[in-house]
Amino acid sequence: MAKDFMQDGKWIENPRAVKILVCECGNKYIKTRERQKTCLECIAKKLREPAR
Ligand SMILES: [Zn+2]
Repeated sequence: MAKDFMQDGKWIENPRAVKILVCECGNKYIKTRERQKTCLECIAKKLREPAR
């Protein structure tokens, strides 16, 4: 018999190491900077058009 080491079809490894957050635009992103509040797409947008 085969044994299942996965739960809900996902491997669970270092859940504390990576924080996945949801941006205001709805995209999910991984927090890589302390002050990061948006996904990389929104960061790039803000850099291109700072005042809209
Ligand atoms: Zn975003």
